[in-house]
Amino acid sequence: MKSPAGNKKDTRGSVYCLICTHTVEADIVPTGRKLMVRSGQRCPRCASALDAAYVLGNSPGRRG
Ligand SMILES: [Zn+2]
Repeated sequence: MKSPAGNKKDTRGSVYCLICTHTVEADIVPTGRKLMVRSGQRCPRCASALDAAYVLGNSPGRRG
């Protein structure tokens, strides 16, 4: 039996858009140890594909 606790799918997280160089929120998916942006999303700022965006973390927090 699978435990419902391990049923993670996609999560909301902060990603860095390389096109407009802004941090935006997007759906991220855990792939092994790394987090990746779920494909098919667009940046809310510049409407570019977030496929190549850099995931900063799974919690929208401060940085720097
Ligand atoms: Zn952008």
